[in-house]
Amino acid sequence: MTEELFSRDAYLRSCEATVVEVREDGVVLDRTVFYPRGGGQPGDSGVLRWDGGESRVTDTTKSRDDGSLVHSIDDVSPAPPVGAAVIAEIDWDRRYQHMRTHTALHALSGVVYSDFGAKVTGGNMESGGTARMDFELDTISQEFGREVEDRLNARLADDVPVQVHFLPRSEALADPDLIRTKVSLIPESVDPIRVIDIVGIDKQADGGTHVAASGEVGEVHVVKTESKGRANKRIRIQLERP
Ligand SMILES: [Zn+2]
Repeated sequence: MTEELFSRDAYLRSCEATVVEVREDGVVLDRTVFYPRGGGQPGDSGVLRWDGGESRVTDTTKSRDDGSLVHSIDDVSPAPPVGAAVIAEIDWDRRYQHMRTHTALHALSGVVYSDFGAKVTGGNMESGGTARMDFELDTISQEFGREVEDRLNARLADDVPVQVHFLPRSEALADPDLIRTKVSLIPESVDPIRVIDIVGIDKQADGGTHVAASGEVGEVHVVKTESKGRANKRIRIQLERP
């Protein structure tokens, strides 16, 4: 298992680590700041540096077999030797954009639920500050999109703190906000449960990396609203500031 430093501090850009394993699909470290693809958030890219070499990390994933984090190396870089001390450094600008986009999506889900009563059915984010979220809505219109955009931006501009909590599983399962966001579906072995609380806007169990205050997201545009079927309507957003 890899120690996941981003889980407690999303603002760490680099760390010292030791190479535990080099496999066909990449490099495993004892600890890392690289976020593995998941929960709609892309995996981090960056670089591993050691005495005598450097490898370019193109993606990070979590192994289904043993839960370790695998840093995928590009075709031309050498892999560091097992046991090597490395500096692991993420592409910060790309990651910070993912953090802002991820927080924007959670806030969007909070606003659509609190103001319109609709639950989330799915979501995903891309690099470039673009993301989509699907809602249990019977109808959707451009006017609705504009209304959501206004409300979302007003709430984000309040610059509320975004807190990371580790709640005992029993406590998380009793929290109404977390029940609504289906915390019970998280495997029973997970305890404590990591929770992201955009104070007063949205609270849900989540493994992703977020900004520390909602104001860091900046303005968000609703760029498209579309129907993806009955009781499934999609909202696409784009961050104003890249
Ligand atoms: Zn999330």
